[in-house]
Order: sequence, then structure tokens, then C-alpha cells
Amino acid sequence: MDALNQSPTAFKEETLDPADWSQVQALSRRIVDDAIDYLRDVRERPVWQEMPSEVRQAFDDALPQAPSALEDVYREVTEKVMPYPMGNIHPRFWSWYMGASNFTGALGDFLAAIQGSNLGGGNHAAAAMDQQVVDWCKQMVGLPRSASGTLVSGGSMANIIGLTVARNTMAGVDVREHGVAAMEKPLRYYASDQVHSCHRKALESLGLGNRALRRVATDQAFRIDIAALRSAIAEDRAAGFAPACIIGTAGTVNTGAIDDLNALADLAKEEGIRFHVDGCIGALIAIAPENKALVSGIERADSIALDPHKWLHAPFEVGCALVRDAAEHRGAFAMSQEYLEMTSRGLASANWLHEYGLQTSRGFRALKVWMALKEHGVEKFGRLIDQNLAQAAYLTWLIEADPALELAAPTSINIVCFRFLRDGLSQESLRELNTEIMLRLQEEGIASLSDTTVRGRHCLRVAINNHRTRREDLDLLVRETIRLGNTIVTQTGAGPH
Ligand SMILES: *Cc1c(COP(=O)(O)O)cnc(C)c1O
Repeated sequence: MDALNQSPTAFKEETLDPADWSQVQALSRRIVDDAIDYLRDVRERPVWQEMPSEVRQAFDDALPQAPSALEDVYREVTEKVMPYPMGNIHPRFWSWYMGASNFTGALGDFLAAIQGSNLGGGNHAAAAMDQQVVDWCKQMVGLPRSASGTLVSGGSMANIIGLTVARNTMAGVDVREHGVAAMEKPLRYYASDQVHSCHRKALESLGLGNRALRRVATDQAFRIDIAALRSAIAEDRAAGFAPACIIGTAGTVNTGAIDDLNALADLAKEEGIRFHVDGCIGALIAIAPENKALVSGIERADSIALDPHKWLHAPFEVGCALVRDAAEHRGAFAMSQEYLEMTSRGLASANWLHEYGLQTSRGFRALKVWMALKEHGVEKFGRLIDQNLAQAAYLTWLIEADPALELAAPTSINIVCFRFLRDGLSQESLRELNTEIMLRLQEEGIASLSDTTVRGRHCLRVAINNHRTRREDLDLLVRETIRLGNTIVTQTGAGPH
């Protein structure tokens, strides 16, 4: 029968809520118990393991049409997902750069989903907490309370926000209204040749293009060369470009180098341009009692990107963009919408949080950060950062003491670059040998490292951003690297001829 001719009471209603909450309760308790066991025993499991083909094939299963019991759904997760993680919660995961998560943060994510609030804004507790966590981030890096900020998905988004504010304030035209084509001179941004790839993506997305990002040479310790930067800016001015922003890196992704932030702040001021700091790795060193001097000057930035899912070990995802001038921040993203008018009372009587970034709906990212900070206190997070730096210094010492190993870059903070050496091997053979060591360390479930190339030389890279790592794990890494190196040399017949 035609729907219009039906009585308006003749439709069936259903919901996603269970018919019987008590069943869900029993299963949920088991899930929490299993989760605690999983985390408690993480050290006993391999860092990483390859998925068997039947597991991989399961991810080709068709879109489910009919229901399944939640018990069965959970069993599939325990069989197909939980045993095959990336591994970054493991004490011997040191690949790329990320945090190791924490149980309290996981509870925070769960409760955030239970409350279900949308952090696009509104007058409610989750929104107030979101602003509080942003305030705490300002305090951690020394920005004034009057600064502005927003929690985003991660460091890449946080950098995009800072670079967008820089573009809009330096464009010389109303770039929001007229676009980049209306600008008289092309903008230029400056960063070291060690800058993270997200800045290129950001400038491409902002319509400025990859060439708007000038990579400036670095010194022996991989910090931006200030004299080279100064001449690059002068050269660009003479050639008709508009220098817009210096991007300082506090902790480069290759080696952990920290640019001279005070010198960059001075130069930006002298040139009348913006100073943005990519502090995704190192901004939070500002809370580490023994090492905070390393990031001195960060508090002078116009904008900062930092990453609570790195050194605050929040579960993915959460990044934070901070902008010194709150009006400039809001001016880059806010617009009034007839369906989002503020009211003087009620749910819509607060500042809309979506006016500080690109998202409209936003998750309740603050809770996982807030709960862990409350539980442990910021001082403990600071000590854990110092601990990772001490561990990296220890690993560096082990490497330098062993003739089979060579340090490939100076250790600045918590990233150690090194390689296994064998006399008589070409650079290409050393690359193959070290890559094979890295892969076997992963495949045997011993440790997860990554590799990189610094100054044209391939090396293994250990980024210790992990609250579970112990000194004995680093002893094991050195032992196993040498064991595997020797084994591979014997197996492949590589070696001095
Ligand atoms: C991790 C990182 C980023 C990107 O952050 P995401 O959270 O992965 O988006 C940017 N810059 C540096 C220096 C980083 O280490």
C-alpha cells in the first residue's frame, strides 16, 4: 500500500539499544577484563606479527545484512583484530613516531563515546572540558591564557591551522573572500630541510603550492642554519616574493633536532613575519624538569602545533593547535550561519568550537587527555619525557661502545640513528644488511624500529616515545641487532672479500 495512504500510526519502531541490558552487561564486563589482561601482558607478546591468510581474507567479508549476536561479533574481534596490532603499545616499539597509549585514556575514549557529545560546540560540560584541556596545553608550553587553541585529529591538522592563520594574516588581501589568486605576491614559508612532510601537504592544500615552502640547509646537528635562512628571506624579497612565516621544528622526525627557537623568534620579529613551531615531537619537553631548556623560545611563537597522542600517550587521535592571537585564530575559520545562531540561554549559549578549525562535528577528545592528566599529574608526564631522553642517551652510549655499531647522527633528544657495520661492505650492501636486520627484528617479534636516510646515508632509527620501555629492552635491542647482523652476514656471504 502507498505510504501516504497509511495511517500515521501504522509504522514499526525499533532502536539500536539492546532488548535486554543485563546480557550486554555481562559481556561488557568480560570485554573490560580481557582488555586489562591484554594490556598487562603486552610485554609477553611479540611486538608485531604477520596476519595469517585466513585472517586477512576475513576483511573481504561482504556487508552484513542480517544480525549476529554481539558475543560472536566480539569473538571475531578477539580472533582477527586484537592479536595483530601495529604494536605501538609494546615496550619495544620504537618505529616512526607515536605514543604508547594508556588504559585511563582508553576509559576516557569509552566514556566520551557513551556520553556521545558533539564538540562542535554548545553549552555543556564536554565543551567546557575541551577548552580546559586547551588551556592546560597553553600552560604547558608557556603561552598566555589569552591565546586561543583547538583540539584536532593530530599534529598534521594542528600545523595546517597554524599555517592557515599565517597565510590569512600575511596575504595582504582578504584571502578568505578572494582566494590566493588575488594575492599580489606569492607567499613564502621557511623551514629546515628536515621539516615534516605534513607542511608540504598543508601548503599544497592551502593553494600556495610546494614551492612556497623553502627548505633551508641545516648544521651538523640538523638544526636550521640561521644565516642561510636570513639570506633566503632576503633573496626572496628581492625576487618579489612575500616572506610570510618561519616554521621552527622542535624535534625533527629524522633525528630529533631542535631548531634554535629564540634565534628564529628574533629573526621573525626583525623581518615582520610569523613564527610557527612544529612541536609535535618536542613541544612537551617544556614540561620535562631536566630538559625543558632545550625548547626555550617556544613560548615566543605565534602558533604552535603539539601532539598529545605522542608524549602524553593519549590514545589516537588528538593533536592541539595553539594560536597566540585569539582574534586571528577565530578570524581564519569563523562564519555566521543562520542554523548556528547563538542564543542568550540554553544549549546554544556558548562559543561554537567549530569556528577554530575545519571540522564541524568534533569528537570529545579532551576526556582521555583530562583523565590521564588528573590521574598522574603533569609532573609525572614531564618525568616520563626526561626518562625517554635518558634512555636514548643510554642507547647512544651502548652503540658508541660497540665496534659493530656506528652512530649515524648526533642524539639530540629521544631519537637514535645508527647502523650495523661490517668492514669492506659498500654503502648499498650496508643498506641491504641493515634493512634485513630491521625486518627480522619485526618478524621475530623482538622490536620494531624504522629506518631513514640522513645526509645520504641509510640507518636504523629508534624513537623512544614509550612509557613502557626499560633499560633492559635497549640492552636486548643492541644484543639482537648484533646477533642478527652476524647471522645475515654468514647466511648471505656478505663481508670482506
Ligand atoms: C608526528 C609529526 C607530525 C604529524 O603529526 P600527526 O599527529 O601524525 O598528524 C608533524 N610534525 C612532526 C615533527 C611530527 O613528528
